[in-house]
Amino acid sequence: MSESRSVFDIAIQQYRQAAAYLDLDPGIEALLATCAREVTVRFPLRMDDGSVRVFTGYRVQHNTALGPSKGGLRYHPEVSLPEIKALAMWMTWKCSVVGMPYGGAKGGVICDPKTMSQHELERLSRRFGREIAPVIGPWEDVPAPDVNTNPQTMAWIMDAYESRTGTRSPAVITGKPVELGGSQGRVEATGRGVMFVTVEACHARGIAVEGARMVVQGYGNAGSVSAYLLQERGATLVAASDTRGAIYNPDGIDALELLEFKTTTGSVVGYPGTRQIDPSELLALPCEVLIPAALEGVLTAESAASVRARVVVEAANGPTTPEADQVLEQKGVLVIPDILANAGGVTVSYFEWVQNLHGHLWTEEEVNSRLEHQITAAFHEVLRISIERRVSMRVAAYIKAIARVAKAVALRGMEV
Ligand code: NAD
Repeated sequence: MSESRSVFDIAIQQYRQAAAYLDLDPGIEALLATCAREVTVRFPLRMDDGSVRVFTGYRVQHNTALGPSKGGLRYHPEVSLPEIKALAMWMTWKCSVVGMPYGGAKGGVICDPKTMSQHELERLSRRFGREIAPVIGPWEDVPAPDVNTNPQTMAWIMDAYESRTGTRSPAVITGKPVELGGSQGRVEATGRGVMFVTVEACHARGIAVEGARMVVQGYGNAGSVSAYLLQERGATLVAASDTRGAIYNPDGIDALELLEFKTTTGSVVGYPGTRQIDPSELLALPCEVLIPAALEGVLTAESAASVRARVVVEAANGPTTPEADQVLEQKGVLVIPDILANAGGVTVSYFEWVQNLHGHLWTEEEVNSRLEHQITAAFHEVLRISIERRVSMRVAAYIKAIARVAKAVALRGMEV
């Protein structure tokens, strides 16, 4: 990715490429290229050593034509406003492509959670929750977990929101612990959705899932769950990575045991029976399925040229640059775009929100079977558009997503 081009520029480029296939009203086309609301908050926090640090956080709502906006909260040292804007826009398309009654949003705090204590993270989350409370709410904007945030983080933010507003509002946030109104199956939902689309993508390409070799970059929530659920379907994990390094064993790595190892030791590196490799080699390993599940912009024109996978399934948001997309298309690699591939998380977040609003409790089987139905139907609809229009799965997914949002904007009408 060039230094001068932000992730938001890439999101816009992807949007315009697909919008060109639709006969959009120029005003609506211009509207959808912008974010409706961008909130920046700065707040002080007393650290465990007694010092005071000032933190910066964001909540961006891209579009709310289809419903309340939805999107995760990320804690990372490299969080930036352009990144959060891109992620918010991608959330709009993601919610739309899988038929959710939601708009798109995203948030985050610039911090390094790995260097912070649990107490510091609790204070940060509670304070950030209070700072964004004026713009979130069950019918306004509903956050969820993302990189380095988890059900505990959601619980702290829900509690801060409820104490500030004097309400009981479990539907203000999703991805909560089950004890506080979280849904069965939410923790695994993103990976489960990745598994469903990978199985469909393999069928579409005539690849047997049984014995298919998979490589996972970023063995966190999305990556590890995708790996062990695909392993249950007969696929074999051959390599995985995290921020500390990458490991490889062409004969196979037990995905569940690797997750237990990472949970205990903090990294995949050192897992018995594997060889440590340079992380840059990971994307070029021979395999059927490559699952980028870390951060944005890892598949560039250069790294894409060395990809040997037949299918790339984007568990992460925005891992492939537009130039890399072209390279992969020329090589005949099928790319399942993020807005479809990782939509399992937001789909089960929607199920959680519905249960909270109605006081229902669904079983895990009910959640998983509704998820399978929703994601598989969206996959086949996108595949159909891709074949009919002779476009990539990404462009097809965008065509479907943008058309639905644009129609909702038009139906709402304009101020006169
Ligand atoms: P996570 O924090 O659980 O895991 C991220 C993993 O990536 C960690 O293991 C980390 O060590 C690793 N990582 C980070 N930088 C890396 C690098 N340069 N090389 C190799 N590994 C690296 O986060 P997550 O929730 O699994 O999110 C991962 C991706 O999936 C993000 O792009 C996120 O936006 C996307 N996503 C997550 C969800 C969800 O429900 N969790 C939903 C949709 C999309």
